[in-house]
Amino acid sequence: MVTIKYQKLLINMHNKTVSELQEDLKNKKVSSVELTQHFLDRIKKIDSELNSFITITEDEAIKKAKLIDKEISKGTVRALSGIPIAQKDIFCTKGIKTTCGSKMLENFISPYDATVVQKLNESGVVVVGKTNMDEFAMGSSNETSYFGDVKNPWHTDYVPGGSSGGSAASVAARLIPCSTGTDTGGSIRQPASLTGICGIKPTYGRVSRYGMIAFASSLDQAGIFTRTAKDCAILLKEISGYDSKDSTSSRMEVPDYVNECSRKLESLTVGIPKEFMQGLDGDVKSTFEDTIKLLESSGCKIKNINLKTSRLGVSAYQVVAPAECSSNLSRYDGIRFGHRTNNAENIEELYKKSRSEGFGDEVKRRILIGTYALSAGYYDAYYLKAQKLRQLISNEFAEAFSSVDLILGPTTPDSAFKLGEKTNDPIAMYLSDVFTVSTNLAGLPAMSVPMGFKNNLPLGLQIIGNHFDESKILQLAYHYQQLTDWHTMKPDISGE
Ligand code: GLN
Repeated sequence: MVTIKYQKLLINMHNKTVSELQEDLKNKKVSSVELTQHFLDRIKKIDSELNSFITITEDEAIKKAKLIDKEISKGTVRALSGIPIAQKDIFCTKGIKTTCGSKMLENFISPYDATVVQKLNESGVVVVGKTNMDEFAMGSSNETSYFGDVKNPWHTDYVPGGSSGGSAASVAARLIPCSTGTDTGGSIRQPASLTGICGIKPTYGRVSRYGMIAFASSLDQAGIFTRTAKDCAILLKEISGYDSKDSTSSRMEVPDYVNECSRKLESLTVGIPKEFMQGLDGDVKSTFEDTIKLLESSGCKIKNINLKTSRLGVSAYQVVAPAECSSNLSRYDGIRFGHRTNNAENIEELYKKSRSEGFGDEVKRRILIGTYALSAGYYDAYYLKAQKLRQLISNEFAEAFSSVDLILGPTTPDSAFKLGEKTNDPIAMYLSDVFTVSTNLAGLPAMSVPMGFKNNLPLGLQIIGNHFDESKILQLAYHYQQLTDWHTMKPDISGE
């Protein structure tokens, strides 16, 4: 129950940033229970229009909020004490359904927490639910989810991007101040861009993948959605670091991103790849050019560079990612976990029917492509070639970073597209990731920050950094948000 005293204060709570809420909670201006209830009420009121959540964990959330309030009253404040958060439904959550957007895992309850979930829980967050996503994170529009399409809060006829569409839409509509996502080829940055919020995909290995349902293991990386760069820094610090349960996680020390992001910008050289400007939509191009002018006038050195291989990223990605997915998804056999058919006469039929019934069309397409690319006769022609291309892409980025600190471009070639517009044209859908996939192939960190609008739909600026240069990315993003107010704009659906 919310007391009258707090009602006025609460009205605007959903417009506050994570860092502002941290202060309010610490100074007991609002209790964690009140804040949690406020966001739960907003989800109940608004999410029927967006479909950004698959599961809402009201009871667990209130229970945790009570515990946090008790701690705060005793003077114990953890890094994220009482901050409401939504988890992408790709992260295993102990005792709570983890569907990965698929019928295959419709009723799957994980016996353990993903490391990201565990770390955030230990930092004091209150998880209000699990967000909708493309099935097994395969998609760019959140239209492949078994649980229905997610709508873009800026215009509900449009897609929010994918695969972390629910995590992005819920933050954009202020149903939650922050959420988690995963990015294999753009699934954090593309939906962040299309919904007008911040999304950061760290360096491969910066964040543990343990308990994050695998799509393409050499590309997958967990990250964060918020509305400001500072909030991204706050949350990234909590989820980063070595994990003995993930052998690809890095032992590099985790910097204090929060302090580093607000450091004064000094002589930063940013590279603009010529290839990012070719064939761009006119409005996206002019918005990006305005952004560059602004950064230049505030002291950044601008350098035109070439990334000749960047256009080949999608081709390499659409071989490597399906190849790895075909192997990762072979575990869903109807026996160990996941959907099991009701009408099989023998073991082979059980495998076939369970998988045919449990997976959607896009997942099946990827498994078929991947199995084909890995098969004896075609391995050299496709998989090996794609891996060589991947190396060339990495080399070209490494070369570029010898003369620039960061690389900038638009996150996506255009603003959000209409629901249904690309569902029958997989190639057109895949091409919407043209600016994002290369960084995954090279294992680099990158972020999308709101940089303007086209016909009332948001556009994003992509900031790419060298390995483990998250601080520099966040610093530029923070600085840019001091100069602009795109991140403060709200979609109508979010109310006042
Ligand atoms: N849109 C890309 C795909 O469909 C990337 C997805 C992702 O990053 N998870 O594979």
